Amino acid sequence: MSTRAIIALLIPLALVLSGCAVTTAPVAKPTATHSVSPTPTATPTPTPTPTYNLDDPASFTVVVNKHRPLNPLDYEAGDMVLPGVIGNPNSRLLRAEAAGALERLATDAGNAGIYMSILSGYRSYATQDQTYNNFVARDGEERANQYSAKPGHSEHQTGLAVDLDDGNGCALYNCFADTAAGQWLATNAWQYGFILRYPLGSEHITGYEFEPWHYRYVGTEVSRAMHNNGIATLEEFFGLEPAPTY
Ligand SMILES: [Zn+2]
Repeated sequence: MSTRAIIALLIPLALVLSGCAVTTAPVAKPTATHSVSPTPTATPTPTPTPTYNLDDPASFTVVVNKHRPLNPLDYEAGDMVLPGVIGNPNSRLLRAEAAGALERLATDAGNAGIYMSILSGYRSYATQDQTYNNFVARDGEERANQYSAKPGHSEHQTGLAVDLDDGNGCALYNCFADTAAGQWLATNAWQYGFILRYPLGSEHITGYEFEPWHYRYVGTEVSRAMHNNGIATLEEFFGLEPAPTY
């Protein structure tokens, strides 16, 4: 018998005799570690002192409002993907990290019996130009500015903003806030890195009417800090001036 064969025979014997097989018995079950945490990949960079880039249009924390146009105005977002899991009848795109977070959100919402779909995601400068000018033609510029952004000033152009609906007849109406989906989002979206960007009562700061359907991806670090400190808008969180008008 070879030395290796003898060792192979002796090892299990030694384990039984020593009794250590019993004390180490429940070798941690691998099933417990994945599938539980709602934010497995959402914490991107371990920055001890948070420094946020508010100007780079590709930054997850870019602040876009009537005082802060995108630079360049015709910025085109990269790494766009088609979010799955959630209903997406018009094939709207989002930046990959925002899409992944939205998929996790939709999965957990679905497990709670809440189903949602995407009305709008990424919009290019050209699309926003068309959209905005249609609204101006319909309602006049002053009115249009209360609910639609000029091209180069829309969060949708960053690929980080999404308009959601649950098909209950409140698409792009305030009553979405009272739907099960609207309430679930208002309570839970922050856990996935999203914030309600245009809250009720903050019109004089954000420059936009209450939009309970419009969520903006900022990453969980910022969304959690805003949630924990009860801060409603990005402008207040970052100490920026209110931007009620252009
Ligand atoms: Zn929107």
